[in-house]
Order: sequence, then structure tokens, then C-alpha cells
Amino acid sequence: MHLPHFKYYAPRSINTLNTLIENINGQAIILAGGTELLPRMKMRLIQPEHLISILKIKQLENIKIKNDKKIEIGATVRIDNLANFFKANKPFNAIFQAANMVGSQQIRNMATIGGNILQNTRCKYYNRTLQWQKIMPPCHKRGGNICYAVKNSKRCFAVYQSDIAAPFIVLQGKAEFLFNKNFIQKPVEDIFTGNGAVPFNIGKSILIKFILPASEDGIISTYKKYRIRDGMDFPIAGVAVAIKIENKKIDDIKICLTGVSSAPVVIKNIKDFISEKKLTDKLIHEISEIAYNQAHPVENIDGDANNRRYMIKQMTFEAIKELIGSYEK
Ligand SMILES: Cc1cc2nc3c(=O)[nH]c(=O)nc-3n(C[C@H](O)[C@H](O)[C@H](O)COP(=O)(O)OP(=O)(O)OC[C@H]3O[C@@H](n4cnc5c(N)ncnc54)[C@H](O)[C@@H]3O)c2cc1C
Ligand code: SF4
Repeated sequence: MHLPHFKYYAPRSINTLNTLIENINGQAIILAGGTELLPRMKMRLIQPEHLISILKIKQLENIKIKNDKKIEIGATVRIDNLANFFKANKPFNAIFQAANMVGSQQIRNMATIGGNILQNTRCKYYNRTLQWQKIMPPCHKRGGNICYAVKNSKRCFAVYQSDIAAPFIVLQGKAEFLFNKNFIQKPVEDIFTGNGAVPFNIGKSILIKFILPASEDGIISTYKKYRIRDGMDFPIAGVAVAIKIENKKIDDIKICLTGVSSAPVVIKNIKDFISEKKLTDKLIHEISEIAYNQAHPVENIDGDANNRRYMIKQMTFEAIKELIGSYEK
């Protein structure tokens, strides 16, 4: 498969990028590592007239710890560098684990964190070659009005499969965007629509960086991933958990799922549920059941949907047990 024709630009500063965007007529798309966008272009799922590579903008490629201890991660930081930065860092361990399990080593060397969070949703009826697209009437995600995965559905259920979004969400990360020369910050969990056909609500904004809050004492986190082949595949279910322990009691818990819906699923009502209770195995089972009940995968990616849902329960249980164990050590 070869790429369609496009015009290529590689600005070296945010100012030049702004000017370029103002002057381009037609569809322009940001290119980072290209590991997700270029395969979609080869399949003719997207055919932008203009590709703007942001890899030459130095300002976007660093991780910085600010004076107030917040961590800023530029949009083009490579996944491998991200994993190395957070290695052996207990509060942010979920980010290390997730980054370290993205695709293969080759993917992690090329891929950026911005592209990882803004990767498109996937579906076995959508991520197909042009030949297939020609013989199948278009579904919602290709501008039609049918869905092959969920019969009679009025919307698209294509799956969001980033490994790193869920850890960013449980660790309360924010994303900073550039739009019309203005910089806007949003919590990462607020950038999603929940509709697989158009997964993000960021319009033509450009992602500049992520900001993680300074780590507080007592916060620990972990990430569990279920995939077909270790060392290569996307998550077909994933769970990130962060807990805050104070005076030997769980003060707060955040759980976020990936690979089971068109957006990360933030598990609701957990904090009130655990308040003042002793964290026994029975309670951890009940929390895992809550996560299970809020996951509704459908049959549109690899793996059986019921099995993926069951794995959410198992991985949530394991993740919380592991965190409690690591705190007590
Ligand atoms: C074989 C294979 C296995 C993979 N496995 C995994 C996996 O296990 N887990 C996982 O999470 N992902 C996986 N991926 C998906 C994905 O390629 C990577 O996660 C990667 O991080 C994407 O980053 P990139 O820099 O290559 O993005 P690109 O391909 O350059 O861009 C991806 C999308 O983000 C947009 N974009 C990128 N940067 C910006 C920005 N700064 N502002 C606005 N828009 C932007 C692009 O326009 C494009 O739509 C896999 C991909 C492949 C090919
Ligand atoms: S979930 Fe349905 S509408 Fe969405 S891409 Fe798959 S088949 Fe198309």
C-alpha cells in the first residue's frame, strides 16, 4: 500500500506553525510520529491535502519538572522516552507501565505521546483496505448511516485503544491546546466525545503539552493491560488505578478503563463507596464489580466482548491488590 499525494510542511516554531495554518487552504492534518496516521492514509481512510509535521518544533519535545513540581510533557515526546522518564517512579508508575507496553519497541521509538492520546478509534469493520471499502456501504464512521457492529445503532462504537490516556486521567493530567493563537488547558478526560465516529471535541486545535500535578505523598498507581500478543498489540481491555493512602487508610481511589468503549471510561462513585471502610478482599471484589458494570464492550475489535469485560473485573482486582501490597512493603 502506498501513500496518497499530499503537500508536506515542517515548521520549526509555534509562530511559524500558526502562520502556516492561517495561510493553508484545504484540509491540513498534524503529523507527529506517523505510526497511526500514515497507516490510515495508506488505507485511504483519510486523504489530507496538507500534512504538517511538528517534529522539528524543539519546544514540544521535552519533559520538564517545573518549580512547583508539576511535570510538563511536550506533545512530541517519544513513548520510549516517556517510559524511561517515569521508570521507578511509584506515584506515576501507571504511566511507565502503560508507555512500556505500547505496541512494539519500534513503535515506541517513533510514536509520540500527543499522537498516542489523539489516536483515532478503531473497529474491525472500519480499519480496512480501499478494496473492502468499495464493496461495503459506508457505516457511520465513513459518513453513512449504518453500523456493522451494533445492528440498528444510530451511533458508532469504534474503540479508543490508547494505553496512556487512562493513567493520565487517574493521575489528573491536563492537556494544553493551541487554537487561533490562544492556549487552552483541559483535563484529559474532557477531550473525548464518546462517539466513535468523531472521538475528540478539540476541533482543529493543536496539542502542545500535558501537565501532571506535583505528586503528593501517599499516591501510588498501576496499569494492567489485556492484549492478544505481548510485545505488539493494542489493549483490548486496560485498567489504570491510582490510590491515595493517608494514615494507613485509602483516602481516594481513581479507576479508568481503556479498550472497552469509544472513550476512556472513568469509573464513577468509587470514592464514596470506600469511605471509612476497611479495604478487605470482599470490598476489592465489590469495587471490581462496579468497574465491570460500567464497561460495555461490543464485538468490533479482537477478542470476545464478554471475555474483555470479565478481564476488566480481574485486572481491577489485581491492580488494587498490587497497590495495597506495594504500599505495605
Ligand atoms: C502495530 C501498532 C501497534 C500499536 N500498538 C499500540 C498499543 O499497544 N497501545 C497504544 O496506545 N497505541 C498503539 N498503537 C497506536 C499509535 O500508533 C501509537 O500509540 C502512537 O503513540 C501514535 O503516535 P504518533 O506520534 O505516531 O501519532 P501520529 O500517527 O503522527 O498521529 C496520530 C493522530 O494524532 C494527531 N496528532 C498527533 N499529534 C498531534 C498534535 N500535537 N496536535 C494535534 N493532533 C495531533 C494526528 O493528526 C493523527 O490524527 C499502535 C500502532 C501500531 C501501528
Ligand atoms: S462501530 Fe459500527 S459505525 Fe463504528 S466503525 Fe464499527 S461498524 Fe462502523
